[in-house]
Amino acid sequence: VPELAQRTGAVPLLQDLIRIDTSNPPGAERPCVAHLHQILADAGVACTVLGTDDNRPNLLARFRGRGTAPALLLHAHSDVVPVTGQQWSLPPFSGALLDSHVWGRGALDMKCSIAMTVAALLGMQARGEEPAGDVLLAVVADEEAGSAAGARYLVRQHPELFRGVRYAIGEDGGASVELGGVRFHPIVVAEKRACWLRMTIRGPSGHSSRLAPPATALAKLGRVLTTLDGARLPRHQTPAADGMLATIAGALPEPLASSVTRFSRGADRDATPQGLPERSAREIDSVVRHTVNPTVVRTPDKINMLPGEITVDLDGRILPGEFAAGDFIRELNKHLGEAAELEILLEGAQVHEERIAEPQFGGLYQSIVGILRERDPQAVPLPMVSAASTDARLFSQLGIRCYGWIPLRLPAGSPIRGLLHSPDERVPVDAVEFGTQCLTELLRGFG
Ligand SMILES: [Zn+2]
Repeated sequence: VPELAQRTGAVPLLQDLIRIDTSNPPGAERPCVAHLHQILADAGVACTVLGTDDNRPNLLARFRGRGTAPALLLHAHSDVVPVTGQQWSLPPFSGALLDSHVWGRGALDMKCSIAMTVAALLGMQARGEEPAGDVLLAVVADEEAGSAAGARYLVRQHPELFRGVRYAIGEDGGASVELGGVRFHPIVVAEKRACWLRMTIRGPSGHSSRLAPPATALAKLGRVLTTLDGARLPRHQTPAADGMLATIAGALPEPLASSVTRFSRGADRDATPQGLPERSAREIDSVVRHTVNPTVVRTPDKINMLPGEITVDLDGRILPGEFAAGDFIRELNKHLGEAAELEILLEGAQVHEERIAEPQFGGLYQSIVGILRERDPQAVPLPMVSAASTDARLFSQLGIRCYGWIPLRLPAGSPIRGLLHSPDERVPVDAVEFGTQCLTELLRGFG
């Protein structure tokens, strides 16, 4: 059916998906899921639609494989972050095609992934090809606000739907990065996980019309914020970060290679990777330590009162591996020079349970590397530790080996990766075509 083929090309499908506003909050993913459901049903694919709430459905579809590989989960979230307060050059839900880019909220994060995956699967089906193993497509809700209605619901309430799945490919990674003249294709093999904290700072309260006593809560707040500005907590070596840094050092020209190697050996706790662009240096520095940033301050909204209590929310991120929230909090208190009054905003059990196992580099990982070497021979596949946290933390609880790979080949110096959650989010059309080809290739022969 030519009409169906037109709607299921990755680019037109991405445009259509962007035009359905799924800003979260509130999410309201239903029309987006209904659109995909219709397209899949028209192609004869049976879907399961389920969720906690009629307006927040998840969609699952199984594609039968040749049985030469274990089942593979391809997951992507259909919600997007809001555009509130952002200045866009084009309307954010236009899905416009301009300057060879598809524009709009979700172009990268991560409706392009849904579009590329569906296009790859339906393209193969239309040609009568079967994937190597069964493929479970999961389009999930609510990733941008904690996944309660999405991946967490599916993993807790419907683990049976994922029976037999050994590997998963999901969010983050993929989009190529240029460093020292080398193009890297990151494949996320481990993620940091969030440990959000609320710090309470107390001081004398009272009328603010006269000389205040010393050490008001606001003065203490000032000291805390200054102490946390650019805070570098102690270093930790993890196998995942070691692998990432060794790959980078192995591919970069001198003197950058030696600089990364020196940094990776970590003799000097305060050393930073020298000679790299500042942004890359900070990214690399974040994979060898827990990080913490104050993001929200709450005070009583009264101009004529000294606030007796102020809270600061801290976005803490714990390294992958055997680190507990308590380890991170100990380091934070030491850095602050005092035991702060802290509350964990994500329940402790959750922070604990969402640990991700050490990465493995066989099987599916090697299939991805092989495809990248063939499709982009000059570039270097990079096993990456991501500072972001995705639904992989939930699916991995089912014993599924998760990788983050949204294959997009971007030109050198491209601003695209910086546009996540930002105004003018967009994706080059040829990157979407590259990604669809990579995914098709993977489905043909993953191991
Ligand atoms: Zn996302």
